[in-house]
Amino acid sequence: MSDAAAENVVLRVDDLQKSFGGLTATDHATFDVERGTITGLIGPNGAGKSTIFNLISGFYEPDGGTVEVNGTDVTGMEPYEVAERGLVRTFQTPRKLEGMTVREAMLVGPRNQPGESFVRLFTSPGAVAESESENLADAERILAEFEIDHLAEQPATDISGGQMKLVELARAMLAEPEVLLLDEPVAGVNPTLAKKLKSQIRRLNDRGTTFLLIEHDMEFVMDLADPIVVLDQGTVLTEGTPHSVRNDQRVIDAYLGGGA
Ligand code: ADP
Ligand code: MG
Repeated sequence: MSDAAAENVVLRVDDLQKSFGGLTATDHATFDVERGTITGLIGPNGAGKSTIFNLISGFYEPDGGTVEVNGTDVTGMEPYEVAERGLVRTFQTPRKLEGMTVREAMLVGPRNQPGESFVRLFTSPGAVAESESENLADAERILAEFEIDHLAEQPATDISGGQMKLVELARAMLAEPEVLLLDEPVAGVNPTLAKKLKSQIRRLNDRGTTFLLIEHDMEFVMDLADPIVVLDQGTVLTEGTPHSVRNDQRVIDAYLGGGA
C-alpha cells in the first residue's frame, strides 16, 4: 500500500486470530478502517464481531495477528493504552453502574478510571483538581448535546436501556476518541432514541470521528455505514457498499445459515 493510502487508514486489523478452547472465534480476520468513515461490521450471531472488538480494544489478547491504530502497533496493549492512542469502544451490554448517578457514571470513562481521584471528586469537592473540573464541565456539555442532561442526577441504574446506551455513547465521547467502536448501539433501544443515536453518530462523524459500528438492525447500519465489512465464522466474508453487500448471495447464505 502507498504511503498516501496508509495515511488514510486509522485502524488496521491484520490476520487476527483468537480461539477459546477448541472454538475458533476469530479466524485470520483482516480489514482496514479508513479515516472519516462510518464502517459497518455485520454478520450472523456468533460470527465473532464482539470478539474482534475485544481484540482491537485490548480486552482480549490475540493468539496471532496485529492491530494498528494510526500506524502504531497496539497489539497486546491494555485497553487504557489503546484508548490513549485514540481508540475507544462501547459495550454490547453496558457495564453495571450501581450506586452512581448518570453524571458520576459519565466520569468513569476510559479517560477517568474509577479510583482515588474519581472518589475525591465527589467526597471532597474542594480538592478537585483543575483537570477534573474540566472533565466535569465536558460531561455536562456532552449530556446537554445528547439531550440527556435532565437525567444527570438520576441513579444510573434507574434509566431505560435506551437511555443507558446514550449515556454509554456520551461517555465514550468524553474521551474525545479519533476512532469509536460501537457494539450494537440500538439493540433494545426504542425507535425515537435510535433516531437520536443515529443523528448523534452522524454529527460526531461530521466533526471527524471515525466509527466502526456493529449493529444487528440492518436498516440502521445500512443507512449509516459505508463501507460494510461482513464477518462469518470469524473471518471476513466480503466488504463493500451497503448495496453490494445486501445483494451478495454469500452474505444472504451466511445469514440464513447463522440463523440470525
Ligand atoms: P458476535 O458478537 O458476532 O455475536 P461473539 O464474538 O460474541 O460473536 O462470539 C463468537 C464466538 O466466540 C461464539 O461462539 C462465542 O460463544 C465465542 N466466545 C466469545 N467470547 C468468548 C469467551 N470469552 N469465552 C468463550 N467463548 C467465547
Ligand atoms: Mg456480539
